[in-house]
Amino acid sequence: MQMPKIVSVALFLCIAMGMTAQAAPDPPKMVKINDSVYMAPTAGNVYLITTPAGNVVIDTALRDQAAAAKNLLAAEIHGPVKYIILTHGHVDHIGGINLWKEPGTQIIAQRNYVEFVNYVTRLDGFFAPRNAAAFGRPPKTVGDWAGNYAAKIDPTIFFDESYKFSLGGVDFELFSTPGETPDHLTVWLPASKIAFIGDNYNGAGLPEPMSFPNIYPLRGSKPRWALDWISSIDKVLALKPEIVLSGHGDPIIGNAEVTRRLTRYRNAIQYVHDETVKGMNAGKDVYTLMQEIKLPASFDLTESFGKVSWSVRGIYEGYAGWYDMNPSNIYELPPASVYPDLVRLAGGPDAVTRLAEGKMDAGKPIETLRLTDVVLAFDPNNNAALSTRLKALEYLRDHSENYVEAGMLERGISNTKEKLASK
Ligand SMILES: [Zn+2]
Repeated sequence: MQMPKIVSVALFLCIAMGMTAQAAPDPPKMVKINDSVYMAPTAGNVYLITTPAGNVVIDTALRDQAAAAKNLLAAEIHGPVKYIILTHGHVDHIGGINLWKEPGTQIIAQRNYVEFVNYVTRLDGFFAPRNAAAFGRPPKTVGDWAGNYAAKIDPTIFFDESYKFSLGGVDFELFSTPGETPDHLTVWLPASKIAFIGDNYNGAGLPEPMSFPNIYPLRGSKPRWALDWISSIDKVLALKPEIVLSGHGDPIIGNAEVTRRLTRYRNAIQYVHDETVKGMNAGKDVYTLMQEIKLPASFDLTESFGKVSWSVRGIYEGYAGWYDMNPSNIYELPPASVYPDLVRLAGGPDAVTRLAEGKMDAGKPIETLRLTDVVLAFDPNNNAALSTRLKALEYLRDHSENYVEAGMLERGISNTKEKLASK
């Protein structure tokens, strides 16, 4: 049982995502990285780089937290904001753009930003309830579909591979480093050997021990290409940074520690990617590989944020799409279309529910879920099946060491309870 850890991580993320927390944590304080680089550790770290000719801001936090982040940095803000750099287009990095933007402020993003924010906006109605479940917040109201290209595009400067500028004698070098998103960029300050890498390491801001990344997040995503992610980390390592500053979590200080952590992370992604590809080439199906591929303990990474099995499936289906060479799956009818027939064959829902309960007693809650799927396809309001399902969901939640999984199970639990209460 790892619940205390999960609860604390969930609490951390609730705070990070701007939710009301029961226990008030210590308020975040500004972190001084050096004499000209400052960090506001909020939901999405915000960085301020000061120069004699004005300021550069890297990322702007979630909209709800943007003002608090700016306030943390207020004492160091002298002169105009000349540039805002967006490490990527996720909402917890772009929410405060308007707070920082002044007349004449240039906003820089990698060119894939445009399609990325359009994609997120295009599928707003699809993502809204999934994001709400993943982050344990109430679903937001979504308006009418705004179309394919409806996102607000704030950046004024886009680049493909790299972009350089100087401000007040400080050189800034930007590189395309796709990973968690296709528009990810890295900001490199050669003089101070600091790399700002967005969410390509520690996208959840977890303290050590670090988790394997979410190569596939349950809330849904286009493929996060593992090989791109690996080569982006390699690009950062080749700079030999002394300090790495992430979109979430604490600074990584010292090249030895940077190298140790980032190498471990990229090697773990490489391992899972390569084992998946080898299994695909050997003709193995996705479920077999989800069960077979385990991260060796030597990587010393947890699965509290990203799960290896989800990543295996994300990589597999990212490469192959949905067809699994079973001709039954060419057609529109889902497996559940014949579940009612199976229930009738078994003599009715009670027999199948008893089987589901037996699986629960035998410590097989996932089989219980599958069997209650069968009963509920026959009778969506079957009281006994809903109650058995609830037990399985609660068991899985209580034994989960992954807070995203726990959040999704929590949503399943509340949906099941609602159905039971409405009877
Ligand atoms: Zn983020």
